[in-house]
Amino acid sequence: MHAIEQLQPFFEQQAPRLIALSDRIWSLAELRYAEQESARLHAEGLDEAGFRVQQALAGIPTAFAAEYGEGGPVIALLGEYDALSGLNQESGALQCRPSVDSPGLNGHGCGHHLLGAAAHLAALAVQQHLRARGLPGRIRFYGCPAEEGGSGKTFMARAGAFDDLAAALTWHPASHSGVFDQSTLANIQASFRFHGRAAHAANAPHLGRSALDAVELMNVGVNYLREHMPPDARVHYAITDSGGLSPNVVQARAEVLYLIRAARNHEAAELYERVQNVARGAALMTGCELEVRFDKACSNLLLNGTLNQVLYEEMRRLGPLPVGEGERTQASRHHATLSENDVAEASRSLGSALRGQVPALFDGVSDYDPARTGLLYGSTDVADVSWITPTAQCWMACYAFGTPFHSWQMVSQGKSALAHVGMVQAAKALAATAIRLFEQPQLLDAARQELNQRRGGKPYVCPIPPEVPLPLRRG
Ligand SMILES: [Zn+2]
Repeated sequence: MHAIEQLQPFFEQQAPRLIALSDRIWSLAELRYAEQESARLHAEGLDEAGFRVQQALAGIPTAFAAEYGEGGPVIALLGEYDALSGLNQESGALQCRPSVDSPGLNGHGCGHHLLGAAAHLAALAVQQHLRARGLPGRIRFYGCPAEEGGSGKTFMARAGAFDDLAAALTWHPASHSGVFDQSTLANIQASFRFHGRAAHAANAPHLGRSALDAVELMNVGVNYLREHMPPDARVHYAITDSGGLSPNVVQARAEVLYLIRAARNHEAAELYERVQNVARGAALMTGCELEVRFDKACSNLLLNGTLNQVLYEEMRRLGPLPVGEGERTQASRHHATLSENDVAEASRSLGSALRGQVPALFDGVSDYDPARTGLLYGSTDVADVSWITPTAQCWMACYAFGTPFHSWQMVSQGKSALAHVGMVQAAKALAATAIRLFEQPQLLDAARQELNQRRGGKPYVCPIPPEVPLPLRRG
């Protein structure tokens, strides 16, 4: 009998507790590096189950590791639990309706409450298997904070937190299911603060030096840069300090936050240097001083075909999502709130997997073709783990087909029956894959060889320089 079939009663017994945990974390909706309660709930659950918990991993109060087992290889399950700012939303609503129950204005618009809960459930299932079979091997859950805008795992990677792993597995809630088979963009985030001189804007403007002008000139300069960047690169900015609310004062200070992305780490670093040159030019033009603060960065993702194939086989073995009429009806209602463009975008990225049909609920597993390599125009800090140890991820349908990431619809569906079914299915896929890797260690050797090849003999170099402090304060 396959290990997951044997573990079926275990999943039935444990799933309600983990579903309740994901619902609780949905309601907490804690932001980057402030996930105290969410991290505590995960760590406590694993501690009670007999895992050895190491708190404040890499000096980050909301990061931890929890390990079970002795000897053998260490296989990691990466869990996240951070929310997004500004996405607070009433659960289940079919329209954008910010809720008053949730503290602050945050919401789980990327499903990380489910992500952490499934990885946690998978860790418990692997523990159960190792214990029942008396097998050597260690399963380690990583509590990873601040995936959104904080690069929590990259800071953990810089501190060496993933150095002794044989493999790492994780997943991401989505509106379809399949292996995560695209690379992602490397990025660098930095703030540019200009210091000028205040003056009466009418009476003595010639004595003032406007920091706000410097921000505006920098943005204009970067907009001209866009035509001359690699086509896959992306540059975004937000003005985080415009220098005050008084137009009759020459703004003595102003700040802009830049997020610079490119297909590979060295391209992101080169583009960052060019953006800094534009900022230096803006400072020179306006007579301001420039202060650049490197905030965070992450690498481009290295796919691992060996692990992806195992994950795919286990997803196929599990079969379609065990959904009923209730989940289908609910998904249809939410699907009806999506725009044609949202659905078209999701359909395009799946290609032939849909076979001409656009479902309200995608309950299958999309085909995996190792030869197909694409680029997802986004970034993830899982990428830094993927440079250190062979890493695989999957998507699992938890939302109506076409539900876009970081939308109110994703928050609204975060506690739905479908979200719960997808979460438990993801836990089974991760557990089944980890169990296969423990039982067939030659797969781990092949995956490691593949990683060495993909790195081209180069060691991992963390894109966050050693002197950059942990960005724990900014909310
Ligand atoms: Zn996410």
